[in-house]
Amino acid sequence: MPTEKAVAHHWRRFSERYGLIGSRCTSCKHYFYPTSIICPKCRRKGKIEEFKFSGKGNIFSYTTIRIAPEGFEKYTPYVVAIVELEEGAMVVSQVVDCSPDDVSIGMPVESTFRKIREEGKSGLILYGFKFRPLK
Ligand SMILES: [Zn+2]
Repeated sequence: MPTEKAVAHHWRRFSERYGLIGSRCTSCKHYFYPTSIICPKCRRKGKIEEFKFSGKGNIFSYTTIRIAPEGFEKYTPYVVAIVELEEGAMVVSQVVDCSPDDVSIGMPVESTFRKIREEGKSGLILYGFKFRPLK
């Protein structure tokens, strides 16, 4: 059985993935993802609060994956991009609902809640956010 602590940790991570929750530093107005208790810009001086991103952003850079790690084989080829959210934070995520040929730097995207992968034998399905072209 999973420990109480492990379950709590899982749900915290789940809500971060589900709602695209990151952090905002009220001292220097820096946004970042995933959440952190220390501001990466002003360190311990910063006061951190949880922040839910709009999910809208632009593709900052990307790469097309043709040889996938285990569990992702059936998705190839697929695009993994660094998305710059409109608030300024960078998120690494898969881009879906388009062909790799349609993806370009600067393309507007929005987050969408999708299945991430299935764990082979256990049948466990992991969900999280991905990005799709903004219509
Ligand atoms: Zn800060």
